[in-house]
Amino acid sequence: MALSGLEIYKLLPKTNCKKCGFPTCLAFAMQLAAKKVALDKCPYVSEEAKKALDSASQPPIRLVTVGSGEEKIEIGNETVMYRHEDKFYHPTAIGFLVEDDSKEADLKKALGEIKKLDFERVGQRIKVNLIALSNKSKDKTKFINALNIILKESELPLILASDNISTLEEALKLSKDRKPIIYKATNANFKEIAGLSKSYKTTVAVSAPTMEELETLVKNIVNEGVQDIVLDTGGKNISDKIWDFTQMRRLALKKAFRPFGYPVVAFVKDESPFQEAAIASSYVAKYASIVVLNNSSPSNILPILTLRQNLYTDPQKPLQVEPKVYEVGNVNDRSPILITTNFSLTYYTVESEVESSKIPSYIVSCDAEGMSVLTAWAAEKFTPESIAKTLDKFSLKDKVKHKNIIIPGYVSVLSGKLEEESGWKVTVGPREASGIPVFLRNLGK
Ligand code: SF4
Repeated sequence: MALSGLEIYKLLPKTNCKKCGFPTCLAFAMQLAAKKVALDKCPYVSEEAKKALDSASQPPIRLVTVGSGEEKIEIGNETVMYRHEDKFYHPTAIGFLVEDDSKEADLKKALGEIKKLDFERVGQRIKVNLIALSNKSKDKTKFINALNIILKESELPLILASDNISTLEEALKLSKDRKPIIYKATNANFKEIAGLSKSYKTTVAVSAPTMEELETLVKNIVNEGVQDIVLDTGGKNISDKIWDFTQMRRLALKKAFRPFGYPVVAFVKDESPFQEAAIASSYVAKYASIVVLNNSSPSNILPILTLRQNLYTDPQKPLQVEPKVYEVGNVNDRSPILITTNFSLTYYTVESEVESSKIPSYIVSCDAEGMSVLTAWAAEKFTPESIAKTLDKFSLKDKVKHKNIIIPGYVSVLSGKLEEESGWKVTVGPREASGIPVFLRNLGK
């Protein structure tokens, strides 16, 4: 059970020495109870108190690292049920299932397609993170051959799925440096799987069909000494699965229920790729730490990755680009100047439309605390004064020989005052960015 701030305080040295970065032991205890700091920030906690405080000092959902090097992923360690309460920290890892009975050429083709699922959106890279290899053939040699191909063709973290302990051990010998997830520990094999996990220092997916069975199994495998776990409640329909995920998250966060304090994994398989993408998206929204799909078409994956990106941005801090003058194409001293805000989505939408117009242009991204044009205007962060200051700050007059700027159509109301403040002639651009190419091509005609 979670300890209250006062209960934790009673176990601290109570010297108020401030070494932990807080003015008093009580303040530190309150932060510890809220899981916002780690116990090791206080150098003076006794071993006895450490033991008592162990559960209070652990995050409610364990942070688990899978894979290695640049492609490694971190999952879990979430602190809230709803994004607006704080933010979601570790984005759902999106993976693909490949089967060991595929022909070598087909497997390589599938891996090539997975590699291509790597996109840039609003200045961030969004991509697929993981490959799950299934021992569908039940044949050890086929599994190892397929694994060798994956290790050669991809750097992504792995899930190794087999019912056969000897096959898993052979696979772990080959791939231990990738820190794969072993799938899966059940009631029947958890002791052997725990042995593999400890020998190869890997994460284990623990699987049981009901929450009660899962609780018992997790306790058993933890008693065997396994720490890094992901939870699986098996194949179920979407509503049962979301029910499971929501209950586990709630119990972990609200009741500090340790057996469910781990990341969760969902496998999605549907004959319709669209349905599969829709189910996967629901799991991304409702607490899955890993979602493994079968269909790798970019048109199905991009919406899932976009949803994930949107859910895992900080709702209090919109994605921003650096406020500055951006040059799109080979600009010169006659190039048009478009004014916008530094909200990433706004900036990149404008940039892509300017690019598609093929007319080299300057885009001035004004510091509006990452708000979109209308929001920033309403919040008085995108005003004639602030735009005029930005034009001066970035010395726009030295970059061009004209005195014209283009503002977004939605803030046409700014034009008169902006001309007065800045001395630049203001042209009102289109309301929607999609109108920019035609607008730029007709400019000056
Ligand atoms: Fe108290 Fe430990 Fe913080 Fe010192 S470092 S103020 S003893 S909690």
